Amino acid sequence: MQVDKDLVIIGAGAAGLSAAQYAARANLDVLVIEQMAAGGQSLIIGDLENYPGFPEPINGADFAQLLETQAKNFGAEFLIASATSLKKEGEIFTIETSKGPITTYAVILSTGAQHRKLGIPGEKEFSGRGVSYCATCDGPFFKGKKMLVVGGGDAACDEASFLANLSDQVIMIHRRDRFRAQKSLADRVLHNPNIEVRFNHVLKEIKGSMKLESVVMENTETGESYEEEMDAVFVFIGSIPQTQLVPDLPKDEGGYIITDQCMETEVKGLYAAGDLRATPFRQLVVAAGEGAVATHCASQRIDAIKGQAYE
Ligand code: NAP
Repeated sequence: MQVDKDLVIIGAGAAGLSAAQYAARANLDVLVIEQMAAGGQSLIIGDLENYPGFPEPINGADFAQLLETQAKNFGAEFLIASATSLKKEGEIFTIETSKGPITTYAVILSTGAQHRKLGIPGEKEFSGRGVSYCATCDGPFFKGKKMLVVGGGDAACDEASFLANLSDQVIMIHRRDRFRAQKSLADRVLHNPNIEVRFNHVLKEIKGSMKLESVVMENTETGESYEEEMDAVFVFIGSIPQTQLVPDLPKDEGGYIITDQCMETEVKGLYAAGDLRATPFRQLVVAAGEGAVATHCASQRIDAIKGQAYE
């Protein structure tokens, strides 16, 4: 049976763009579906400083542009659309999208993960008016102002360090008595004179009128709740994998998709790569590597279906 595309990649973050580059370079007819701009999480990174091969920090959006250009130079096609469902009949997948159905022999899911929300009073109301999930995007609006960072992982430490370049009034709270982040990132925060770290603290409420004006925090060690004036709140408390297209696939306790070493899910021909996959370390370089592996294995499957396998 004829299909529209050999391979369809859903999601154009680092995993999807790397997968696309490898697929196009291997002469596969490959389509990347993305609902917004290509780049995924890298778009919100100010200075990307740990991607191998870039000894000087590179802006995340510039990095994403390089990945996209490289994939396009090898012949990958891109479609701006949202994928709404995915089904498999025999060896053929059909993806329903906002621009119509697409059939293919193999699918790489690389839809990434979205920011987790606190779910406290005021968070939704002041989102975009003081509450942010992206320091690079919104930090410059609060230059010299008092900013609160919530979280204790790599993202929170990275972003707090970025905000401390904009203001000497950065307060960081974490619900535990030490950071989850990699030691190098945690140390950078702990030694930054512009950041005041308060462990064993949780944010209870965000208040204001036209804009954010104060926050209510609780010291969980003493049980004391107190209100403090604040200009902005930056929330970095992890992510939720975007797996709505595949509700029935096996996942780990965090909801991340489980694959084999080929990045193949329980469904033959359906691969998952990047931040939505169960992995011990979520990094751009890992996502890009997973995209390459997924394409390599998908191309072997496609060759077999087409009767071109190297036996
Ligand atoms: P993460 O590692 O899952 O950390 C989330 C942090 O938020 C944890 O400290 C967690 O507390 C806290 N948290 C979760 N829910 C909370 C809630 N409801 N209220 C208060 N605090 C809450 O997430 P991440 O920092 O976004 O990082 C995600 C992945 O990206 C990681 O694999 C990370 O390595 C990677 N990353 C790497 C870099 C880098 O290498 N430069 C930068 C950014 C992200 P507990 O510790 O108590 O669970």
